[in-house]
Amino acid sequence: MTAHRSRTTRSGRLPALFTGVLVGVSAVGCSPSPADTVPTPPASARLADVGTAGAEGIGDTDFPKDGNGGYDVKHYSLRLDYDPERVHLTGEATIRALALQNLSRFNLDLSGFDVRKVTVDNVEASFDRAGTELIVTPKSLLKNSAEFTVKVDYKGRPQPVRNSSNLGTYGFIPTKDGAFVTCQPNGAKTWFPGNDHPSDKATFDFTISVPRGLTALANGEMEGAPRTEGNKTVFTWRERHPMATYLATMTLGKFETLTGKTKSGIPNIAAVDPAYRDDLQRLHRVNGQITDYWTTVFGPYPFSSTGAVVDDFDAGYALENQTKPMYGGFSPDEGIVAHELAHQWFGNSVSIARWKDLWLNEGFATYSEWLWSEHRGKGTAQELFDSAYKAQDEKSPIWSYPPGKARAKDLFNTSVYVRGAMTLHALRKKVGDRTFFDLLKTWAHDHRYGSVSTEQFIELAERMSSLQLDDLFGEWLYGTRKPKPLTR
Ligand SMILES: [Zn+2]
Repeated sequence: MTAHRSRTTRSGRLPALFTGVLVGVSAVGCSPSPADTVPTPPASARLADVGTAGAEGIGDTDFPKDGNGGYDVKHYSLRLDYDPERVHLTGEATIRALALQNLSRFNLDLSGFDVRKVTVDNVEASFDRAGTELIVTPKSLLKNSAEFTVKVDYKGRPQPVRNSSNLGTYGFIPTKDGAFVTCQPNGAKTWFPGNDHPSDKATFDFTISVPRGLTALANGEMEGAPRTEGNKTVFTWRERHPMATYLATMTLGKFETLTGKTKSGIPNIAAVDPAYRDDLQRLHRVNGQITDYWTTVFGPYPFSSTGAVVDDFDAGYALENQTKPMYGGFSPDEGIVAHELAHQWFGNSVSIARWKDLWLNEGFATYSEWLWSEHRGKGTAQELFDSAYKAQDEKSPIWSYPPGKARAKDLFNTSVYVRGAMTLHALRKKVGDRTFFDLLKTWAHDHRYGSVSTEQFIELAERMSSLQLDDLFGEWLYGTRKPKPLTR
C-alpha cells in the first residue's frame, strides 16, 4: 500500500523524498467469542470421534480474531452479483479446504450480510454469527487431513471498515458507479466469507455479474469474453496462484481497458475510469516497463499477468492487489507504480505470516522506489537514504517506532516504510551489491508463493553474506534510537 497525498500522521511528517504519506489502519473491532456449544461427549466417547472446534483466530497475536484455526483453505470460488443502485451484493462462496484437526465446528470471517444457507459437503450445516465470525457446525465430524467443501449463500448491503485509525475506509467500498475493493489488512470479510489472514493463501475464481455497461475487475486473467444476458454482464476471472484474502478484489464500474503484453511477454491489463482515459496508454506502458525491469532485479514474475487500475473513487491510496494494483482517485507516478509492482514479489508472492513483519512488504516496496529512481538516473538509493536519514533528527518518531515490530493499531507507520527501506540500504552497504541483489532474488525464489518471517530473512542474509548481522538488524529494525550514520 502507498498513500498518495501528504498528511500529518501520528508519526510526524514524511521526508519530502517520499512519494506519499503512509496512513494506517488497525484491527477491526471484534465481538466477544461465542459460547462453546460443543456438547460434552459421553465418557465412553474418544476425542477423536468427537473432534474439537477450530480456533476463532489463526494465531496472529496482534490480530487475535483474524483468520481461523483448524483448516487450510485451498480454493475460493466466488459467484457474486452486485447492484450499485440498490447497494446490494448477492454472494455464493464455495470454499474448498483441508481439515487440520478433527473438526466439530469451525469459523469463517464475514462482516455483515444476511447468511441464507451454509452447507458442508452438500449437507446443510447449522451456523451462528458473533461479530465478524460465522460459526459453522457441520452435521458430521470433519476428519483431520480430509478435504471438505463449505458453501455459503449470503446477501445484503456491503459495509466497508470505516474510521479505522489513520486510514479511514477499506474493504468493499460502494462508489457512485460501482465499487472500489481494497482490503488490507482484514477487509476481505466485507464481501466474502473466508479465512481472512495472509498466512492462509488460496487460489480464486470469480464469476461477477454487474449491470450491463459496467466492468468487473478481479485478480488474474479473464476466462473467455464477458457474457451479456439481458441487462446483466457476467465477468469470469481466475487467479491461479495462491493469494492472500486481502489482495482479492472485485472493483467494478465504468472502465476503459487496454490489454497487451510487456516487452518480455507478460500479459499486461490496464483499466481506468473514463475520467482518466487520457492516461490509459501511459499507465499501460509504464506498468509493462516496470514489471519487466523488476524481473531483472527480483527474478521471474511470479504471476500470469500484470496490471494497473485507476478508479475515480478518491481513496487517496494505492493497494497492491495481486496482478491488479488499484489506484484510488489519482493517476500514479512511476514511483508509486514501482512500489505496487515490487509488492507482487514482496508481499504477494512472498507473504508475511503475521502482520508485525509488515516491513518485509513495505520496507522492500519503498526501497524499490529508490531502486527505480536509481535505475532511471534520478536520485540514487544512497542519495535517497541520505536525504531520509538527514530529514529525521534524533527526536523523530521514526526512530522510536521499530519497523521490525509493526503495531496493530499503527500498522502502516512511516517507520515501517521508510526505516524499513533504510534497513535494506544499510544491509546493502554492509554486504555489498553482489550479495545484496543475490539475496533479493534468492528470497523471492526460495519463498515463492509461501509465507515468511523476519527471522528467516535475517538468517538468509547472514548465511549468504557469511556475516553476523545482529548489530545491524538490532539497530535499524528493532532499536528505538537513531542509528549511527553508515560508514562509506
Ligand atoms: Zn506498499
